[in-house]
Amino acid sequence: MELYKLTAHELLEKLKNKEITAEEISSSLAKRIEDVDVEVKAYVRTPEKWGQKRGQSPEKGDSPLFFETKGIPVSIKDNICTDGYSTECCSKILEGFKPPYNATVINKINEAGHSFLGLKCNMDEFAFGSSTENSCFGPTRNPWNLESVPGGSSGGSAAAVAGDEAIWALGSDTGGSIRQPASFCGVVGLKPTYGRVSRYGLIAFASSLDQIGPLTKDARDSALLMNIISGFDPLDSTSINIPVPDYTKDLINDAKGLKIGIPKEYFVEGLDPEVKSIVEEAIDKLKGLGAQFKEVSLPHTEYAVPVYYIIATAEASSNLARFDGVQYGLRAKTQGLIDMYKKTRQLGFGDEAKRRIILGTFALSHGYYDAYYLRALKVRTLIKQDFDNVFKDFDCIVTPTSPTAAFKIGDKVDDPLKMYLSDIYTISVNLAGIPAISIPCGFTKKGLPVGLQILSRHFNESALFRLAYTYEQNTEWHKMKPKL
Ligand code: GLN
Repeated sequence: MELYKLTAHELLEKLKNKEITAEEISSSLAKRIEDVDVEVKAYVRTPEKWGQKRGQSPEKGDSPLFFETKGIPVSIKDNICTDGYSTECCSKILEGFKPPYNATVINKINEAGHSFLGLKCNMDEFAFGSSTENSCFGPTRNPWNLESVPGGSSGGSAAAVAGDEAIWALGSDTGGSIRQPASFCGVVGLKPTYGRVSRYGLIAFASSLDQIGPLTKDARDSALLMNIISGFDPLDSTSINIPVPDYTKDLINDAKGLKIGIPKEYFVEGLDPEVKSIVEEAIDKLKGLGAQFKEVSLPHTEYAVPVYYIIATAEASSNLARFDGVQYGLRAKTQGLIDMYKKTRQLGFGDEAKRRIILGTFALSHGYYDAYYLRALKVRTLIKQDFDNVFKDFDCIVTPTSPTAAFKIGDKVDDPLKMYLSDIYTISVNLAGIPAISIPCGFTKKGLPVGLQILSRHFNESALFRLAYTYEQNTEWHKMKPKL
């Protein structure tokens, strides 16, 4: 058995029984990455020449292979700071930026006896996107169909897990960037409750929406990684000081008595009929396992996309103001300070980043602030209240993760509005701050994975794990592997 194919919990068992060593896991993974990443391009550094960025010469001090061989290596999205190791958000403007500290999640991974895999996962620049096509390193390909996108923005992390190039991985989710790529790649992706996982060292996109979370091969690995990364952090003022349960205790194969809402606003025009019927089959399966379903309403759903794109771009325009050639990464060579700022930003940001800076600055500008930004904040509260109302009577809500399966590379890249609609089922969760998980629930006729999204109230990740685990124990979808 090739070790790279196994889950983290299977490998941990073997490590415990001294059947294998951490070095054996790393070298099995290294071989796999060498074999397939030339095609998938889940990582931003070439597998042929370790530690070397595509098309560039090796960096001094980079590990030739892995940082350390300790425990189970975790693959990390390029927006999570790793001490002394390039963290560039797949943006030219952060070229050569090596953070002088670790993100809290990286320290937690180390403290738990695991290590960061010394390669960063590809992503849309600054996490702006749904396809990983907005990366300055070029797109990642979907392991199930190399012509298709892996989803985004954590497409590198999702493709790495799906292609067995990672045992488990971390991504970030601002509007769906963990769950949508998990759905497109047929893996498990969890967006924790806002405040559950420290954002310290996560390069900010939209600070009131961002959360780091796991992308894994199954629900047990997701629970294990959540046990490691969750918890209060004094370095993140939005992290919440309430105890973290042992999530592996929620892996109970029993859905009896769970009350689940199906929001009628999510099963409407725009939902691909094939995806719809696959999700309905999954709901029938869960009914057969004892869960009780009832239609519910989230009446402000139609405002989620516009509200999100006002709030997210407003926050992004403010967060990205710090990249001006002075402190981080790229500095354009020009005469004079003002020219240097301008030129650096012109050269450093890609088209989507520029679009969002312009939109966000407009929404925050004098005269438009009340009409757009303030109004969006008010509607955000209404969206949150919709969920609060449903969760008075229900444990979970179930929806498709995305209205379609993975689309072709190039299909939506020139049409930002079409791209923005890929997140129609995921962004309300971030606006409300609640947790949600995407689990594999079937395949289209073309062989592309489809994801089922489960939502619950704040800090009730436990319900997500119980329902996801029950579904997983009674289906085989999570065991399917792409042919690479
Ligand atoms: N696709 C969404 C966007 O482009 C969400 C991205 C994310 O969650 N980081 O903003």
